[in-house]
Amino acid sequence: MKSSKTVFVDCNDTVISVRYANRGEEAPEGFRAFERDGQWYHVKARPSAETFLRALADEECDIVILTGGHSRMQHIILNFGRLGRLYDDLIGADNRDAVALPEKWVLVDDLQDGTSSFEEKLSMLGISKKALAEAKYKQLVERHCIQCAPYKAGEDNEPLTGLLDSVRAKLAAQ
Ligand SMILES: [Mg+2]
Repeated sequence: MKSSKTVFVDCNDTVISVRYANRGEEAPEGFRAFERDGQWYHVKARPSAETFLRALADEECDIVILTGGHSRMQHIILNFGRLGRLYDDLIGADNRDAVALPEKWVLVDDLQDGTSSFEEKLSMLGISKKALAEAKYKQLVERHCIQCAPYKAGEDNEPLTGLLDSVRAKLAAQ
């Protein structure tokens, strides 16, 4: 890690759209198809993802992809989406013990507070909702988490680049 600031970024539906496909199924426009272990995938990077990640890297943030999936598979998915070189690290379900929380951090995720998947993401960062008083938990989410609109396909109507100021503000306030 090169910096004291880390931006954790969710993978699926945040920086890339991923669909499970059937063999021989045509990929939608802009999607790339590939197969791993008998499963076909169609993937497409969110149009604003590259600019967003590069802007954060230029501002000396470490970028860590945080995903509930398996790290090896998520690396492959991001490579096929041509986002493979745009992050410093990737933490998945299988290597979650590798997370070290830096002094300043933000989590950008399409999932919302109140979903079990979101709580799972926070638990990957060593934060347990159960162990915290509700007010403290809410404060932590407010201070560190930014929800983005999910990206599935087509136009990127709510681009990640629109969140850059919010990321900067949250990091600056910590
Ligand atoms: Mg997601």
